[in-house]
Amino acid sequence: MAPRVLYVMGTGRSGSTVLGALLGAAPDAVFAGELTWAPAEVFGEHRPCSCGELASECSLWAEVEARLGWSDARRRAAEARFQRFDWHKGFAHQLVASAAEWAAYERDNRELIDAIGEVSGAQWVVDSSKYPARAVALSRVMPDRVSVVSLTRSPEGLLQAFSRQNEVEQRPKKPLAVLPWYGANAAQIVWARGRVDLKAELRYEAFHADPCAHLARLGEATGLDLDAVIAAVGSGDEVSVGHVVTGNRLRKRGEFVFQAGPDVRPTVTGRRARASALGMRVLGRVTGI
Ligand SMILES: [Zn+2]
Repeated sequence: MAPRVLYVMGTGRSGSTVLGALLGAAPDAVFAGELTWAPAEVFGEHRPCSCGELASECSLWAEVEARLGWSDARRRAAEARFQRFDWHKGFAHQLVASAAEWAAYERDNRELIDAIGEVSGAQWVVDSSKYPARAVALSRVMPDRVSVVSLTRSPEGLLQAFSRQNEVEQRPKKPLAVLPWYGANAAQIVWARGRVDLKAELRYEAFHADPCAHLARLGEATGLDLDAVIAAVGSGDEVSVGHVVTGNRLRKRGEFVFQAGPDVRPTVTGRRARASALGMRVLGRVTGI
């Protein structure tokens, strides 16, 4: 049977890879990381997988690549299409894309997701690509197979995350640059809301404070059996990341322990950061994210 997709949508820097890994650790699921990057980083560059192998040697991704049998030209075409449909300007592209291009996008995604399902045997493929545009496009080409969970983070938490140096995946942003970035994300989430099968909306700090309760709710909303994951998180046991090539730092680890913490919004200091946080709070209030 063709697997279902559980899509983690939301702003960057909100813990989407951790949430994806927890959902993908369910017995009948597989965590695929950020699938929008798969044609480029998994099949093109063969980057290292969290299992310790290169993607070209990994027991999941090498098999998926073999099953797909994409030529390099086909892979490049899929890479370009994912970028056009999924990324931040994807909304605009989706309005003007031809039927033939939609059909090609559908074929790319069906082949990729079905191959992951066949090789892993999983009934759920968890995709943490985050982009709201991809949530909408996937839901359109694979109706009835895509469920979406939305994840955001408090303005203060985002400002703190973006102030950190030594991040390879997403460069630090100045406080006032986080505001328009947040606005663009919020607008896209609002646009996506009515166009996808949205099962839950979470804020990272609340999830972090009581992961077991939130996971139980997510399991109920999606139908995914998360009992074993909840038990592991509850007793502080390690959870396997599985085979993740794309996504944040978590991909460099084979296993991780998710520890609950208090639901605290960090304090922001500095006039610009406070102004940015205030603007984000207003945007958050208006958009309900
Ligand atoms: Zn692997």
